[in-house]
Amino acid sequence: MENEKKTGGISVKTEHIFPIIKKWMYSEKEIFLRELVSNAADAVTKHRRLVSLGEAEEAPDAYRIDVRWNKSEKTLTVSDNGIGMDAAEVEKYICNMALSGALEFIEKYEGKGEGAGDGIIGHFGLGFYSAFMVADRVELLTRSYTGAPAVHWDCTEDGAYTIENAEKDGQGTDVILHINEENAEYLSREKLAEVLDRYCAFIPVEIYLTDEEAAPAEEEKKDGEEGKKSEERPINDVNPLWQRPAAECREEEYTEFYRRVFHDYREPLFHLHLRADYPLNFKGVLFFPKIAENYENPEGQIKLYYNQVFVADNIKEIIPPYLLMLRGVVDCPELPLNVSRSYLQNSAYVSKVSAYIVKKVADKLAGMIREDRAKYETLWPDIATFTEYACIHDKKFYDRVREAILFPLNGNVKKTLPEMLEAAKEEGHEKIFYYATDEKQQAAYIELLEKRGYSVCLAHNMVETRFLQSAETYEPGLRCLRVDAAGDALAKEADADAEKRAQELFGGMSAEGLKITVKCEKYEDASFPALFHIGEEESRMREMMRLYAPEGAPIPVEATLSLNTANPVIARLLSGGYAEEEKDVAAQVFRLALLSCRPFDANEMKEFLRASYGMLERFHA
Ligand code: ADP
Repeated sequence: MENEKKTGGISVKTEHIFPIIKKWMYSEKEIFLRELVSNAADAVTKHRRLVSLGEAEEAPDAYRIDVRWNKSEKTLTVSDNGIGMDAAEVEKYICNMALSGALEFIEKYEGKGEGAGDGIIGHFGLGFYSAFMVADRVELLTRSYTGAPAVHWDCTEDGAYTIENAEKDGQGTDVILHINEENAEYLSREKLAEVLDRYCAFIPVEIYLTDEEAAPAEEEKKDGEEGKKSEERPINDVNPLWQRPAAECREEEYTEFYRRVFHDYREPLFHLHLRADYPLNFKGVLFFPKIAENYENPEGQIKLYYNQVFVADNIKEIIPPYLLMLRGVVDCPELPLNVSRSYLQNSAYVSKVSAYIVKKVADKLAGMIREDRAKYETLWPDIATFTEYACIHDKKFYDRVREAILFPLNGNVKKTLPEMLEAAKEEGHEKIFYYATDEKQQAAYIELLEKRGYSVCLAHNMVETRFLQSAETYEPGLRCLRVDAAGDALAKEADADAEKRAQELFGGMSAEGLKITVKCEKYEDASFPALFHIGEEESRMREMMRLYAPEGAPIPVEATLSLNTANPVIARLLSGGYAEEEKDVAAQVFRLALLSCRPFDANEMKEFLRASYGMLERFHA
């Protein structure tokens, strides 16, 4: 280029580009800063590489990126001392190339209306030109490491630019944004620090954030006070944990990193350092956070990075949604920084990464129970929900962690799935798991089963009961029965003799939410007068209804009131031994069976107490 000022317009098609950029990027315009800082970091990385190849001289100064703002001038400058550009490169990369990418992007999403690229537009930027989201004029002052003359490029938001030779000290590039009125917030430390922390906290070149107007004063002060001005500290960590070999990372560093990135001051339960070699070639660290009881609102967050530049949170193509309860970072330099969602969805590479992560997570759990069962058992309450949730969604995951799934039994013992199957076999009810959803409410049933020597496992929430249902489909022949459906497990014979009397006494009784039939059976265990049996399918349906229509009126559940003819009270009742008091006795038997099956409502409670008081009075008569 001759040393004269040139003017130009950024290709014909692009007159409309800037307004479009502005409109579309409106919601997450802050990513302009990520784009500029990552370009700056690339420029440094390129120079480093040339030096290591012996193709460039070592840089005289330490590599750095400076983000400086000037409130009076309304400028924001991003500077680097990387590779720089000569005039031809500015023409090639800034005036043409970058825009072709932008055009492609815009063509793809044009006409799809607001929010069309939801989740993409915010996540994936437009490169250098995203500067125009916040600036009405952008200048570039750049000098190539080759020693070619420095170049000044100056462009307004309509796309008209000038380009001329200029003076600049040292190699590298300054990008100067003239921030427009409505984006004045980008001229403050608070906002810049927040955005840099989100996107650039781990960029591999030191970043310094400076107020141009305050800077000289501060430096003078430091000089005066301490006689040194090296107090300056980068805002980022250039060598984050995930880039280092696991063997070199200390336990405290993982915790520190977790706290810094996720602002969670609890300790993570444990972590998993990922390092996949060629061809997957990605790194990462995953943490298992303590998950709150409410599984529907998982607290996880997986951050995707591209060479230490933050790209997006929770990309479900890379981490299956059921693992999104985890927290962590995955750095995938094989994916382009500006990647589209359709690319992710159709990429064989991405699905391999996803499968690799799933496998590693499962292997981690399986490894932990093998290495230290006692410790694993103490962690289980915190990881049960996550693990079971993942199993429900992925049979492959289940197959890998099968031996690492623990069933808490009534009485603080935990058994693995193979141990449960073994126990079921020994107890003589091969392939049936009995479970209780509420060990207080269902205590009577649990006791009866345990008296017979059966193990009862606890399934306290929907994830656990759903998990048992999945296990039924994963384990051929396995059947899970809630304790109140386990009547057949109790030894008994049909006893039809007293059926007619039983109908007379109990047939007219009803209870809210139950559709009752009465039956007489002679149990081996004579200790209880009556029990409600609710079919397994019935209780599953009821749980579903409760989940999907919690406010709706409950549909009555089919329940069998099974009268135990071996019990002395029932025997006496059916043979007329209670005379005129038999109605009261039958009603109380009914209430007691109901009480061991579901909580009383207010009226039932009042009646139960009244009847019980009355009986006590009769004792003294
Ligand atoms: P991308 O970074 O995706 O290639 P950009 O629009 O951000 O797209 O940048 C286009 C090109 O301009 C870059 O590939 C690079 O060659 C050049 N460039 C941008 N910023 C700088 C910089 N700070 N130093 C050197 N070259 C740069």
